[in-house]
Amino acid sequence: MKVLVINAGSSSLKYQLIQVDTGDVIAKGICERIGIKDSKLTYKPAGKTPFELVQDMKDHIDAMKLVLDALIDKEHGVIADMREIDAVGHRVVHGGERFAESIVLDDDVIAEIEALSDLAPLHNPANLMGIRACMQIMPNTPMVAVFDTAFHQTMPEKAFMYGLPYEAYTEYKIRRYGFHGTSHAYVSGRALEYIDKPVEETKIITCHLGNGSSISAVKGGKCIDTSMGFTPLEGVPMGTRCGDMDPAIVTYLMEKLGLDRKGIDAYMNKKSGMLGLSGVSSDFRDLDTAAREGNARARLALDTFAYKCKRYIGAYAAAMNGADAIVFTAGVGENDRAMRYEITRGLEYLGVELDEEYNMTCPRGEEVIISKPTSRVKVIVIPTDEEMMIAKDTARLVR
Ligand code: ADP
Repeated sequence: MKVLVINAGSSSLKYQLIQVDTGDVIAKGICERIGIKDSKLTYKPAGKTPFELVQDMKDHIDAMKLVLDALIDKEHGVIADMREIDAVGHRVVHGGERFAESIVLDDDVIAEIEALSDLAPLHNPANLMGIRACMQIMPNTPMVAVFDTAFHQTMPEKAFMYGLPYEAYTEYKIRRYGFHGTSHAYVSGRALEYIDKPVEETKIITCHLGNGSSISAVKGGKCIDTSMGFTPLEGVPMGTRCGDMDPAIVTYLMEKLGLDRKGIDAYMNKKSGMLGLSGVSSDFRDLDTAAREGNARARLALDTFAYKCKRYIGAYAAAMNGADAIVFTAGVGENDRAMRYEITRGLEYLGVELDEEYNMTCPRGEEVIISKPTSRVKVIVIPTDEEMMIAKDTARLVR
């Protein structure tokens, strides 16, 4: 079965055509600057010549048309006809409490996703643009929505409630939802293969550390807690997001800096985190370089990040009465060896023994165990694959 996976942003559209039964990515790429001048399609077919095309795309429909043209192109194409695509899987950021699982899209589901836009005003409307474009161009192909929040819907009430008046939850849906769910689901599922226990008895802490970062506690295969909350702003500090802080800071800074709602939102989402702390960059590679050259604030940003991640690991070990595995994934988790060392250093009490040498030399892009054979807690690097997870879920639902 061939599934086209679509991840639509407001001005971009990422796509992957996946042969689900073999796990092969047949082609992938991205449309950028949709609705802006000089839009660009990047197309990478497996085993054929990739290409880029600069051509204005006024909306997501134009973008989808170009993607399909590329897929069936005589020279670069990977399929003969659009009808070879059996289903389309769409990434949708917010499923609220309504969607605890992926679902086949129809008009009712679309209306419900639209209604949830209040909770994810930047993301859900963009995801819907991708969905509507595909539906218009491929009206007879079944489509599935896979939600970033769904995996976290198993969190118990005590984990997802804030200490606010209960009405904030009932009236305004204010609770912790969590994000990156598809990634946490994928890597925790993969980690089960390395733990010699029945699923129900497993305790896994998954660290998705990238530009956005979140950490989850997965007990018996189900998420019981995660660090992101009502929005992706909660949790560890991120590339440009502040992460956890005293909520009183919001009104205090609004007054001091004369910021309105939008201003403080941008301050916490775009100017904070690693960028704000270091004054150097939001990119961990730049921070590593700057810290090595003696930049104290870059060092501080990295130390702060490692410390907050360690605290979450401690919290989740407490929540689960221990852990069988700690998993690292995403850009930083998969690549930043020094960060993995800093985070796991000093967790011996928990039963973590990192193989320091192998952590520094292990291959990239593969699943590797970087703890010592004697370590009670396995430390595993698992490259995330959200697209594959979306493709598999889509195939399962339409079969
Ligand atoms: P996103 O959340 O945008 O999907 P990624 O998961 O791709 O982000 O992670 C991006 C982050 O990964 C960047 O901060 C980048 O610095 C970091 N990263 C990528 N490669 C390396 C590396 N070799 N060493 C350190 N950090 C890296």
